[in-house]
Amino acid sequence: MTSQRTRQRLIGRLMEQGVKNHRVLDVIRTTPRHIFLDEALSHRAYEDTALPIGYGQTISQPYIVARMTEILMNTGKLDKVLEIGTGCGYQTAVIAQLAGEVVSVERIKPLLEKARRNLKLLGLRQVELKYADGSLGWKEKGPFDAILTTAAPQQIPGELLGQLADGGRLIIPVGGEAGQDLQLITRHGDEFQTETLQKVRFVPLLSGKSVG
Ligand code: SAH
Repeated sequence: MTSQRTRQRLIGRLMEQGVKNHRVLDVIRTTPRHIFLDEALSHRAYEDTALPIGYGQTISQPYIVARMTEILMNTGKLDKVLEIGTGCGYQTAVIAQLAGEVVSVERIKPLLEKARRNLKLLGLRQVELKYADGSLGWKEKGPFDAILTTAAPQQIPGELLGQLADGGRLIIPVGGEAGQDLQLITRHGDEFQTETLQKVRFVPLLSGKSVG
């Protein structure tokens, strides 16, 4: 179930769907996605699909993780990265192996703790996590070369744009629960250039911290 062959089949699927960056494909192949899932679901870890992680949330589909990471890698530097929506930490683990410093924000505390354990297990130490409302970004850590948002707002939070470095990119799904447009926003000084990439489906970006 976690065999090389199963993982290689996943990489084949990602390539068929157009993922080309070999460093991204290598990281997806070598990152044990099964450790991010509950035992009962771990046999499905190398399927190219989102799966439940509790608290009404999901682990992202490998294709989407690969795509978002590849786009950020192909468009500029990744010395300092902010992720909004840590979840169980899978996307965090993937980008942490390709970027410099990664910080990530999650509004559900038990998920953040789960992510902390997972990242520690993988020995990824250049990652800092925070329990907070990610729509506010993480100003003290910015400005960022890249911000990736793994939950969808109806409208792009202005705070995130303000925390982009010059030349920085924000990749974010925008829209309602029925489906969203994945947008790439690039900062050039005080100008922001927007590109709509493809249709995607993420859980909603909710405001405030979840209590309990
Ligand atoms: N990055 C994860 C995807 C998790 S799903 C992965 O690789 O699998 C998206 C996550 O965004 C959920 O855990 C949800 O709780 C979180 N989220 C939603 N709104 C948020 C907000 N305002 N601030 C921080 N996290 C948020």
